[in-house]
Amino acid sequence: MCDSKFCMHAAASSRRSFLRSSLSTALAVAAGGALPGGLAMARTASPPKPQNVVDPDTALARLADGNGRYVSGKALRHDFFHERPVLTGGQNPYAAVLGCADSRIVPEYTFDCARGDLFVARVAGNFANDDMLGSLEYAVAVLGVPLILVLGHDKCGAIDAAVKAVTQSAQFPGRIPSLVSAIAPSVEKVRGAAGNLLEAAITQNVRDNVAALAERSDIIRDAAQAGKLRIVGGVYHLATGRVEFLA
Ligand SMILES: [Zn+2]
Repeated sequence: MCDSKFCMHAAASSRRSFLRSSLSTALAVAAGGALPGGLAMARTASPPKPQNVVDPDTALARLADGNGRYVSGKALRHDFFHERPVLTGGQNPYAAVLGCADSRIVPEYTFDCARGDLFVARVAGNFANDDMLGSLEYAVAVLGVPLILVLGHDKCGAIDAAVKAVTQSAQFPGRIPSLVSAIAPSVEKVRGAAGNLLEAAITQNVRDNVAALAERSDIIRDAAQAGKLRIVGGVYHLATGRVEFLA
């Protein structure tokens, strides 16, 4: 449906609008100012999903409840038709997810969510490069999400590649080494630990990126210190669908 020149143009135009909004907001926040008036209004006036205006702990509990429904095969029926009009005017997701691009890990399914509920940034290996960080800053500064979940998963191919690069000096083609080099420091940290290295690296990569979000972003750190934002980690288990939230 969306492979025509018109749709490609619309997508490019939409992306430019997003980048303009994102940039002006980031600059305002970085300068210590409030959000620009229009964006502040969009965030506070008549949120399209009032049920998503929750505190960080409630947001985390909602993720856990949704995952419970997904695991047990009792997911809700989501009405994509009737929710469409309300979401044309804005968005106020109740959580952001930094997840892996793996086709088997779908956050909206995993947490039994509808559109407008999750702001999802995905890259193979679920790590926070500058583009991921900027996306999450947008979610925090403009959309006001109260929760960020860094979501890894077992049997992750990107982490496995980093493990092989570290332990066997494996080489990869194209731009894949860019992924590997981002993940390798987490692998190195657990290289000498007992147990399965891939599993340990998957968990360490999540923990490192939970820490990195606040360390590398003033926007995210300030929101967390103000109690408006919580950052948590989790690992999705393919066999059961259950997300193990990390302490
Ligand atoms: Zn993965």
